Amino acid sequence: MNASSFSIASCFPIGYNGGINTKVGVSMAKIPMLTPLVEMDGDEMTRVLWRIIKEELICPFVDLKTEYYDLGLTHRDETNDQVTVDSANATKKYGVAVKCATITPNAQRVEEYDLKQMWPSPNGTIRAMLDGTVFRAPILVKGIEPCVRNWKKPITLARHAYGDVYKNTEMVIPGPGKVELVYTAEDGTETRKLVHEYHSAGVAQAMHNLIPSMESFARSCFAYALDTKQDLWFATKDTISKQYDHTFKDVFAAIYEAEYKAKFAAAGITYFYTLIDDAVARVMKAEGGFIWACKNYDGDVMSDMVSSAFGSLAMMTSVLVSPNGYFEYEAAHGTVQRHYYKHLAGEETSTNSVATIFAWTGALRKRGELDHQPELMHFADRLEQATLDTIAEGKMTKDLALMTTLPQVTVLNSRDFILAIRDKLER
Ligand code: NAP
Ligand code: MG
Repeated sequence: MNASSFSIASCFPIGYNGGINTKVGVSMAKIPMLTPLVEMDGDEMTRVLWRIIKEELICPFVDLKTEYYDLGLTHRDETNDQVTVDSANATKKYGVAVKCATITPNAQRVEEYDLKQMWPSPNGTIRAMLDGTVFRAPILVKGIEPCVRNWKKPITLARHAYGDVYKNTEMVIPGPGKVELVYTAEDGTETRKLVHEYHSAGVAQAMHNLIPSMESFARSCFAYALDTKQDLWFATKDTISKQYDHTFKDVFAAIYEAEYKAKFAAAGITYFYTLIDDAVARVMKAEGGFIWACKNYDGDVMSDMVSSAFGSLAMMTSVLVSPNGYFEYEAAHGTVQRHYYKHLAGEETSTNSVATIFAWTGALRKRGELDHQPELMHFADRLEQATLDTIAEGKMTKDLALMTTLPQVTVLNSRDFILAIRDKLER
């Protein structure tokens, strides 16, 4: 690991940009930490929120220990993206990370930040290194009601992030002829299957997946279901796709039988397999409180359906869970670029920090659990409750004010919303 790319940090890390006026003067004893969190700082408006959250909501109460990695785009460029790799390796070492939203560069960002090259998505790099699955869950709060009336508890969506149509090979077939699938084994023997005998022009598509990737996906899902004590649903179209989708079903079933059945029984949760169309119908009628594992395409489509029906991207948390039991917590939204430009122009912003706060509480709770520190877990609970109570009392950011069912609302700016939560936490 490149030692220069991180710093051992408390409140606040060495190398943290700019001077800050850290609030001291809170006389109560701070909650100690035994193991550092891997802290991955990020970009734009979420980087601004990150600092205020630490300053106002974490550091006055917790003797915060982090190993700090600056994944801000400028520093990724300076380190030739080594800092992203180092932060993922640190997550393997310590087990728990908290990540701020980061810019995935495109051509416009390359120009804006004068980048050496178009660096890959940090989330993609980290996910590939940890071999993880991303679980997205909405944060439910009084006054922000899901469109689906019977959804009373969160539905957590797990999307397989490898292969299928996202790594397909397709062909436009110009006219009559035949298309075949050919597998050539290492010894040169060929297995052929006719896809179609074309009598007209048409299209063809081939896609693939890998058993190790399905196994990692299955283990991440079973592990996360146990971790959060929620039922796990999984669905494919195995009646139609008797080999491809059926293999997914079989991989899940085999791992469940061999490794998780007894643990699920002990935890009082169930694993439920059904067809994807049946799953969709049941999800709409369910009250929530379970994890829904989806193949790549189903997950792409269904996660947007579930998250928009629950309300807002700004109220959606995300955790990357590796089959080896590493956890990386973050908000599901991006860096909120438009708000950041307003902020830079000196205008007031009202950016929702809830998902980023919950990334911190998720990581602190997990750290407390692994280190047997109930007081740290309890703090995470209290901070979440203070956040939800603040909103339920009608104090919220603009995005929530636009959709709340509460009659009396005070719209707060980015900082004042966090200060209102602090006030609640202290009381
Ligand atoms: P975004 O940051 O999620 O924001 C899109 C819009 O959604 C915002 O302009 C805002 O709408 C609303 N929004 C999102 N989060 C909000 C919050 N916390 N509070 C209030 N409103 C919120 O997506 P983007 O603008 O498409 O992407 C910006 C950058 O984020 C990109 O460079 C992208 O690469 C990066 N990104 C990173 C991650 C990640 O690190 N996990 C994920 C996605 C995107 P209004 O402007 O209408 O108020
Ligand atoms: Mg999508």
